[in-house]
Amino acid sequence: DESVQREALIAAIENVAARIEAEKSTLTDLDSAIGDADHGNNMHRGFEAVVEKVDEFEEMSPADIVKTVGTTIIGNVGGASGPLYGGSLMSASQELEDGITAETSIAFAEAYLEKVKDRGDAHLGAKTMVDALTPAVHTYKKSIEHDDLPPLTAFAKAVDAAERGVEFTVPIRAAKGRASFLGWRSVGHQDPGATSTLFIMQEILKTAEE
Ligand code: ADP
Ligand code: MG
Ligand code: MG
Repeated sequence: DESVQREALIAAIENVAARIEAEKSTLTDLDSAIGDADHGNNMHRGFEAVVEKVDEFEEMSPADIVKTVGTTIIGNVGGASGPLYGGSLMSASQELEDGITAETSIAFAEAYLEKVKDRGDAHLGAKTMVDALTPAVHTYKKSIEHDDLPPLTAFAKAVDAAERGVEFTVPIRAAKGRASFLGWRSVGHQDPGATSTLFIMQEILKTAEE
């Protein structure tokens, strides 16, 4: 029921925030190679503000919690990642209005990916978070709808797919975001936003497995 979903969601958010804090320098180091060395700080600032709202989350539906995470990230994170993460979460949260089920979670994942692609105008292979998200969302949907796997198993496969997506960003040339200013010199570096996307997914999986 809703209170079980709410508690699971809050636990996931807290685990994500703790992981982002722990990986702050990892993310900033990745961004220093091909960007402006702020991705770890940006993400940390956003999730620190989100965690301060946990008391308010206790009174909210899952959809409103996700929406508030989005607006809080928008309000606290400048740069490319703020509107991409925040705006896409905010808009995709509508798909969770009937609660979190296998069906609504697929709709949420697809809406989130579409929003990121819309806002960032990034295609697959542009060396962005889209490269982690795209295989993850497709794997999640296919695992449930085609392979009939339970959502948790499907999500574990999606995390594996996101991990391969992150690895795929290393040898390719950036076509979007600050890294694209480097042209071919962006080759050989892992994308920070794809990496933070993977970290977030890993924490959601870890929470769901508990
Ligand atoms: P900024 O580049 O403004 O400093 P961040 O460093 O916080 O913002 O975030 C950089 C990450 O945002 C990149 O690693 C990439 O994954 C993602 N990103 C940047 N531009 C785009 C875009 N147009 N579409 C999708 N993702 C993007
Ligand atoms: Mg940056
Ligand atoms: Mg910046």
